[in-house]
Amino acid sequence: MTRFIVLLGPPGAGKGTQAEAISARLHLPHISSGDIFREHLKNQTELGKLAAGFINKGELVPDDVTIAMIRERLSRPDCHAGALLDGFPRTPTQAEALTTFLSEINGQVKHVPYICVPEDVLIERLAGRWTCRESGHVFHQKYNPPKQQGICDFDGSILYQREDDKAETVKRRIHVYMEQTQPLIAYYRDHGVLREVDGKKTIEQVTKDLLLALQGNGKS
Ligand code: ADP
Ligand code: ADP
Repeated sequence: MTRFIVLLGPPGAGKGTQAEAISARLHLPHISSGDIFREHLKNQTELGKLAAGFINKGELVPDDVTIAMIRERLSRPDCHAGALLDGFPRTPTQAEALTTFLSEINGQVKHVPYICVPEDVLIERLAGRWTCRESGHVFHQKYNPPKQQGICDFDGSILYQREDDKAETVKRRIHVYMEQTQPLIAYYRDHGVLREVDGKKTIEQVTKDLLLALQGNGKS
């Protein structure tokens, strides 16, 4: 049986940061839908051009396109033993599609850590987020600064502020999250796999809490 973990939480909760911290320890690849879209944007593929219109406005990319992209990614050999999903699913339709896809490959969503962070903290985190162009590593100007300003610690590439991390778009993204993604909390709670983790703590403490939450059988 393969093991899929879904990191749930609003934009800026720390999903990407935590996925980077725990994926190697869990021996699961980190699959970030946002990173895959940004890779398409960078390479100016057809999918990238389509997605850009939604991403830059803080809207979700349509379900059919997103689901097809993730199905293809999860079908690759590195996901045969499972994956750590960050940013997908984000709507009830996507969650249903994931359940269906996993049932076809004898997989299942084992745990869904839900990283809870209040809105004022999210806004401060996103305003100070710096992202690496090369591979999506994230830093924060105050809470997780790179060793050298503007340069990624891991691959030396330039850090930039995402277009959709500007204040107006952030407000829209949080609103979209409340409307379209929050219903997944109840969905996964009903499936007995949701685990709440306090995301206001330090990055290191959240990592510890997450690893503890993942030790159980997922039933809460
Ligand atoms: P964050 O990490 O700040 O929550 P992401 O990098 O996950 O943001 O996503 C950035 C943008 O990419 C989203 O605002 C949305 O436009 C698009 N996106 C990412 N994942 C999905 C998804 N599962 N469904 C639809 N759109 C998505
Ligand atoms: P998400 O993927 O959920 O959108 P990120 O992992 O990109 O969130 O984190 C958003 C920003 O907040 C980044 O700048 C990151 O360095 C910072 N951050 C993440 N977790 C914490 C934390 N526990 N405390 C303070 N800052 C954090």
